[in-house]
Amino acid sequence: MRLEINGWSSKITFSATHIIPGHYKCGRLHGHDYAINATIFGTIGADGVIMDFISVKEFLRKIAAELDHKVLIPLRDEGVKKDGDSIRYSLRGKEYLFPLEDCALLDVAVASAEELADFVLGRVKEKVHFPDNVSRVEIGVDEGEGQGAWTGIDLKA
Ligand SMILES: [Zn+2]
Repeated sequence: MRLEINGWSSKITFSATHIIPGHYKCGRLHGHDYAINATIFGTIGADGVIMDFISVKEFLRKIAAELDHKVLIPLRDEGVKKDGDSIRYSLRGKEYLFPLEDCALLDVAVASAEELADFVLGRVKEKVHFPDNVSRVEIGVDEGEGQGAWTGIDLKA
């Protein structure tokens, strides 16, 4: 059985700016409305539910709030450098300078929906307690409605 959390209807959304280096169009600074979705797989527990998903929603909303109205900076891109209170981002002959307070610093190589999904899943894995009857968790990050990237992890070996 699975439990689905739709980020759009649950208001787990954020708006942010990013760049996809080397892409003919997305290589320019631009923004999206994003939503974070989740699917939780498991069996029904003694209390009649897979798990209390309100806590998962609240956790995902916190992550969305951290990213909201920020420039998504991929810290693993070698063109990204901290420069005092700024982030200098050099790529393919262009240079951007962003105030640090406007940036969300992410441990990813590219600020794509795919890597954002991995980033969110990593946080969920680290901080959310799943009961034993939950077997798998999947996270999807949508860049606009109807297009997104999903990743997941099995909780039992
Ligand atoms: Zn984009």
